[in-house]
Amino acid sequence: MSNYRIHGATGEWEVVIGLEVHAQVTSNAKLFSGASTEFGAEPNAQVSLVDAAMPGMLPVPNRECIRQAVRTGMAINAQINKWSRFDRKNYFYADLPQGYQISQLYHPLVGEGSIEVTLDEKDPEGSTKTIGIERIHVEQDAGKLMHDQHPTMSYVDLNRSGVALMEIVSRPDMRSPAEAGAYVRKLRTILRYVGSCDGNMEEGSMRADVNVSVRKPGEPFGTRTETKNVNSVRFVMQTIEYEANRQVDVLESGGAIVQETRLFDPDSGTTRSMRSKEDAHDYRYFPDPDLLPLELDDAFLEECRASLPELPDAKRHRYENALGLSAYNAGVLTAEVETARWFEALLAASAKAQDKPESEVAKAAANWLMSELLGALNKLGKNLENSPVSPDAGGELLALVGKGTISGSIAKQVLEKMLETGDGATAIVEREGLKQESDSGAIEAAVAKILADNADKVEQYKAGKEALFGFFVGQTMKAMQGKANPQLVNEILKAKLG
Ligand code: ADP
Ligand code: MG
Repeated sequence: MSNYRIHGATGEWEVVIGLEVHAQVTSNAKLFSGASTEFGAEPNAQVSLVDAAMPGMLPVPNRECIRQAVRTGMAINAQINKWSRFDRKNYFYADLPQGYQISQLYHPLVGEGSIEVTLDEKDPEGSTKTIGIERIHVEQDAGKLMHDQHPTMSYVDLNRSGVALMEIVSRPDMRSPAEAGAYVRKLRTILRYVGSCDGNMEEGSMRADVNVSVRKPGEPFGTRTETKNVNSVRFVMQTIEYEANRQVDVLESGGAIVQETRLFDPDSGTTRSMRSKEDAHDYRYFPDPDLLPLELDDAFLEECRASLPELPDAKRHRYENALGLSAYNAGVLTAEVETARWFEALLAASAKAQDKPESEVAKAAANWLMSELLGALNKLGKNLENSPVSPDAGGELLALVGKGTISGSIAKQVLEKMLETGDGATAIVEREGLKQESDSGAIEAAVAKILADNADKVEQYKAGKEALFGFFVGQTMKAMQGKANPQLVNEILKAKLG
């Protein structure tokens, strides 16, 4: 899909990328306790005895968290393991009071799957690539340490401790920063459609560990570094760019890459070493004796599958094939689940008001949404979510255009008034007398006057200066205050001019 190469002194290098994305599961309660997961609470206000690791407390799996992870697995066409198990990953950290994290190493809930990413929506031909996903496992999040509150003190907030995460591990299938960016965006879109994670990277609901190595094309994989907790698409791309170039420099000056954990610094756009990377055996993983293996029955799996919405790829194909939208429009309208929902409500309203099948009015609805409404909202500092114009109100406006009651250019004025006043399109058109003139008598009269007033230009036109046709159209429209039916104006002018 892209041929990203780093040009070193010794020749061209290829970059190899694998991402481990941590996605916070959307659920009211934590993975093994009933404590709330809401963002922004007072520190330590949402900590149960289980989350605080009080001796003797027993974890109880939250069915909803498991359900969300299973639904996510289904959405990436992954194998769902009906039998899985939780393991303890042992390490000491001040924000992890248990002294271990409950995770899944040996038997994850979700096995192999994949997602298809599109690098450039404007160029749908040959620009998609399938990225393999190795597994999704479910685990607990840790708490948060704050070191800068007081010069001699550190604070710990355990609100996040025990919140359910899905760790979505990709195969090392990506070969450029752009591919990795497209992968994170697509994954985020899927999670938001499924409703299993809000995808809010600023609030830390989704963050990526970025594994990068370099090699000469065709050679075996090189040693990788892992840059932890990168929290935006742009930072993921910057991390890869910086880290790949750094590795090439090290290798070309005779050094070796060590497997290590690094940190990204958003201010400088660079990464720095944090610690040498542990291997799995360093954590002395073992099955958590407090938890029974998870066994899923068919009814549960069926319910999970039945609850999935139409997913972004299917929706995009339907918009292209059944509704006749361009690949670009279909891509933009399906990239955010909220946009797709808005568009579908608009389309339904427009089709109903015109008593036509959706496929006949879809292009007009898509074009209006993308080139009129979004631009107008943007100017007001608004978006679809807080739009003063509802999908139903938009449908009413589109129907006025579709039925020929108003022209496209008048529709722009009407939209502005709708945004200003909150009134409906029909009411505005009535009140302001904006109805399109489809009475050929009135148009003919206007045309006759304009041709008479511009006899010289009529001569020139007849002598071959055909570009003047536009002038006559413009004058007629002006005389009719923009309300003449443009098709009729064209027909009448053509007839009169011979
Ligand atoms: P760990 O759990 O120790 O981080 P994994 O084997 O699970 O190790 O791999 C973690 C991630 O690293 C995966 O996303 C994988 O695709 C990626 N990865 C593995 N080898 C390489 C490599 N040579 N270059 C880049 N990424 C790699
Ligand atoms: Mg890892």
